[in-house]
Amino acid sequence: MKRLLAVFAHPDDESAFAGTMAHYASQGAEVALACATRGEAGEISDPTLATPSNLGQKREVELRCSCDIIGIRQLYLLGYCDSGMVDTPENERPTAFIQADPDDVRRKLVKLMREFKPQVVITFEPQGWYGHPDHIAAGRYTSEAFELAGQAGVFPEAGPPWAPQRLFHAAFLRSRFKLMADYASENGIELPGFDQLLSEEEDPLERQITHRLDVDIYYEIKEASRLCHQTQFGDDHLFSKMPAEIMRAVGRQEDFIQVYPRLAPEAEPITDLFAGLSM
Ligand SMILES: [Zn+2]
Repeated sequence: MKRLLAVFAHPDDESAFAGTMAHYASQGAEVALACATRGEAGEISDPTLATPSNLGQKREVELRCSCDIIGIRQLYLLGYCDSGMVDTPENERPTAFIQADPDDVRRKLVKLMREFKPQVVITFEPQGWYGHPDHIAAGRYTSEAFELAGQAGVFPEAGPPWAPQRLFHAAFLRSRFKLMADYASENGIELPGFDQLLSEEEDPLERQITHRLDVDIYYEIKEASRLCHQTQFGDDHLFSKMPAEIMRAVGRQEDFIQVYPRLAPEAEPITDLFAGLSM
């Protein structure tokens, strides 16, 4: 049985790679999602949907909606609080994910890897898509837990060792974002908070892609997963201002970098994260 574990930071992160998860779920694989926070520091698209005090609760409901649509059967909420965007006061809250005791986070991730027994794990690349501190932390902790889960002497209370076989970074390429950015600049739409993705420098991730899944046939599922997150994607959101064909052009492929075992990219990316693995 193929088992895929995705580790992300906030409800709605999973929607960006929902095509891949829907693909494997529809092929009969077990797909699990670990989400570090309930996205408590997110914006609220419409004040009738949530208040700052119940946003985490609402976003958990939205996340469960998304998981049902994608076909994710196991959802693990790590229970930390959203640390907010870089240099915001939420960074300093003692309950913020980036303030958590590192061993506490590693133990939780090791435990769920040992319980769920994934062969394949996906998480953020080190830039965290657009520099969100929780994305960067989730990616780093997942890499550490990936290495530790198979070691018997480490966190023995977290269950017998299980070594997942492959670790991937889910990469959101600037070239895809540029499709949206170009439309936005032609139409006078602002793009606050995406400076990293707007950089004109060469995207270092572009040359590292080892795997690319064409998920066009899952695009409607992907879009429905995103639209579960009503508190996030209101009419004022950048994505809501994009024509459907641009959203589809951005979302119809998903890119990955195999980081363990390290794999050199080839001219044609591989189209299956499980290719050649023994189950
Ligand atoms: Zn996020």
